[in-house]
Amino acid sequence: MSDNTHNLASLAPVHLTLETTSTCNLRCIMCKHHRPGIGHKNHVMNMDLFQSVLEELSNSIGFVCLTVTGDTFCDPLLSSRLASIKRHPKLTIEIITNGHLLTEQNLRPFQGMRNPLYITVSVDSPYDLTYSSIRGGRGVSVPLENLKKLKKLAQTLEIEEINQGISFVMMKRTILGLIPFLSIAAELGCDKFSTSHLIVVDETLGAESLFQYPVFTNYTIAAAREKALELGLQFHAPPFFAVTEQEILSYKSCRITRCDYLERRLTVGADGRVEACCNFLDPIPILGNSLKEPVMSVWNGERRSLYRQALREDNPLFPCNNCCILELDKEYLFASEPFGVSCPPELRNTEQTPDLKKEGFFLLSAEDAEEEIASKLASL
Ligand code: SF4
Ligand code: SF4
Repeated sequence: MSDNTHNLASLAPVHLTLETTSTCNLRCIMCKHHRPGIGHKNHVMNMDLFQSVLEELSNSIGFVCLTVTGDTFCDPLLSSRLASIKRHPKLTIEIITNGHLLTEQNLRPFQGMRNPLYITVSVDSPYDLTYSSIRGGRGVSVPLENLKKLKKLAQTLEIEEINQGISFVMMKRTILGLIPFLSIAAELGCDKFSTSHLIVVDETLGAESLFQYPVFTNYTIAAAREKALELGLQFHAPPFFAVTEQEILSYKSCRITRCDYLERRLTVGADGRVEACCNFLDPIPILGNSLKEPVMSVWNGERRSLYRQALREDNPLFPCNNCCILELDKEYLFASEPFGVSCPPELRNTEQTPDLKKEGFFLLSAEDAEEEIASKLASL
């Protein structure tokens, strides 16, 4: 073992993701987990496994994320899990949810929580028509209404610290709603707004990718960043697309040889499998099984070391050699394949303002959009 490997092996994980359930109440078009042929559906992690992993890691980790392939609020054991986590009040809890079940009743088990609580609601459009075209026909009012009540409810339930955010997937049908949505997010009391690019999990979604419109997307993200700053919202977005020769050269010469997942994060599935990460596109490397050995043995084991070392030597193994998560650490984005789509540079539309109608962007007219947002806010 090289010195490098030894030093890293001795670092404990700081972030734990637990697939407490893989059940979800929605069927979104961009979701890999709930497609036919994908395994691990409707699983629930039993409490023995949950507790043993939590207890083993509670001294090293600072963050625990509940669920990765399902919705936290579909977990029938959520109350018991929260009771266990409350015994470690310094642990920050992260929850990513579609927000439909973020109700008063479902939040009651959080009563009196001293752990910092970070809730991110994934909503990709403030417009019903767009939202329902993505989220299996459901309307957007319920998650927005739940977000609006969240902080007040947290106060009533004596939850000491809560941070609420929105996670927004940018694609052709959503990007025109990005900037108007920021104002709504601020009105709903959000602290943070995170955007990401669509990962194309099947070819029917290929036309939605914004790799096709790099300049327009860069301008939109830059304008959104400014707007968020003005509104006092924390804003997270992927790097800009490389467009000029110099930017493309800079992209091509950039090497990322560290992956946060391999260095500091641990993901445990409902059936005990320990996964390298939550890469969305390719089969995820399985590092071991926490039902058969302590998670720290898996963490310090050969497989994680193999993936991590190969990457450190700039010779990544599959699927690390085509990983969108690593791309996000670069100064620019350029290759589309890690995001599941083939979009050759010569076919990209580099206009700052493409003909949106002709290009098939999903848009309400500006007046319709204003009207819909105003009436939605008034009704919440
Ligand atoms: S809410 Fe999340 S987990 Fe559920 S189907 Fe949609 S993308 Fe998948
Ligand atoms: S696929 Fe990507 S995120 Fe997963 S372990 Fe490899 S480099 Fe890290």
